[in-house]
Amino acid sequence: MFYKTIREKSAETGAVSHDLLARAGFVDQLMAGVYTFLPLGFRVLKKIENIIRKNMEAVGGQEMLMPALNPKENWQKTGRWETLDILFKLKGAGDRDYALAPTHEEVISPLAKKIILSYKDLPIYVFHIQNKFRNELRAKSGILRTREFMMKDLYSFHATQEDLDSYYAKVAKIYKKIFNECGIGKNTHETLASGGSFSKYSHEYQTVTDAGEDIIFICKKCGFAINKEIAGDKKECPNCGVTEYEEKKAVEVGNIFKLGTKYSLPFDLKFRDKDGKEKPVILGCYGIGLGRLIGAVVEVNNDEKGIIWPKQVAPFDIHLISVGESIKVRRAAEKIYKDLSRPRFANESRRGSPTKPGQKKDVDVLYDDRSDKSIGEKFAEADLLGIPHRVVVSEKTLAKNSVEVKERAKSVVKLVKIKLLQKFLISNP
Ligand SMILES: [Zn+2]
Repeated sequence: MFYKTIREKSAETGAVSHDLLARAGFVDQLMAGVYTFLPLGFRVLKKIENIIRKNMEAVGGQEMLMPALNPKENWQKTGRWETLDILFKLKGAGDRDYALAPTHEEVISPLAKKIILSYKDLPIYVFHIQNKFRNELRAKSGILRTREFMMKDLYSFHATQEDLDSYYAKVAKIYKKIFNECGIGKNTHETLASGGSFSKYSHEYQTVTDAGEDIIFICKKCGFAINKEIAGDKKECPNCGVTEYEEKKAVEVGNIFKLGTKYSLPFDLKFRDKDGKEKPVILGCYGIGLGRLIGAVVEVNNDEKGIIWPKQVAPFDIHLISVGESIKVRRAAEKIYKDLSRPRFANESRRGSPTKPGQKKDVDVLYDDRSDKSIGEKFAEADLLGIPHRVVVSEKTLAKNSVEVKERAKSVVKLVKIKLLQKFLISNP
């Protein structure tokens, strides 16, 4: 395993997520605001990516990939070459100017112009998951605010405002599902934000944490959340009319936005409607920052010993630990490792032949077979890494044909017969 853990908390006073992810060997800081995802962190990133991908496909999203390196001309067309202060500008060969994209309206809009011609081509939904760049003056709070970051952005194209409105509501609903699946649903508030020049409102998804740089206001009566900008001119809760708010620090993990014709106009993105008239295409955009999401997950799922990964996004399902040097223990642990890691079929017939596809149950096992670490060190590291189940094999447990199983989030240790282990883990996922 390509990683190194650091036991001591860092002296820096920063985000808990940054401290834990760096100490546990999930990420490594190359420079301020730029991170490497090590194998452990990369596994989490892939899990989150897959949750997002599955849900984007569920709302009709087609995945593609747009480049980060953009020509200056596209950004001049929308005026953002001059106005967007965080835009990364590069000078290339032949004195040509380029931007490193922080968002992709300047790429998707001229692209859509080549494909969308008629109302028959609408609506359409495309997304990509890709690295973006922000030329931040200061980068802080670890992976919560970075200069290079992975993001999912979905773009929707519509013939009418009504169609955008109904799709927007659909995405808002699936966003809640995504954050639930990532284990931060309870702490994440759909927050009313201003909509800019083309729409009255947009929505941010704000995860409450002290490491957050945003402030949100949550209605004490109905739980409706609004951001600072909106709270500035709203004395009463837009939902229930009550005027008492709870003020919370939060980090924005996602946002959804009705762009309207803001980007279709500069790129002349039009379609021919049923009545034969040319009309501008109406756009929506929907973002989620993956690194930030991981940071937010860790901010709300940890204790003094380390990370407590929600099962759906954990890098591994099981942290298998062998205790001591004995051959017997080593052999038993290796057998358990192989048996658990082997793809299995939930509904094997008696003859042992796999039944229907899609019933495979993989279990990802991290096996700590190091002989130069004490049991105390291995346990401390298991707590720091935060894998949902710890399974321990020792002389003592083998004497009872068993292993010790402990959930990271709980303190109780259970003795489970080895032959019942698979069943136990499936019924206690
Ligand atoms: Zn209210």
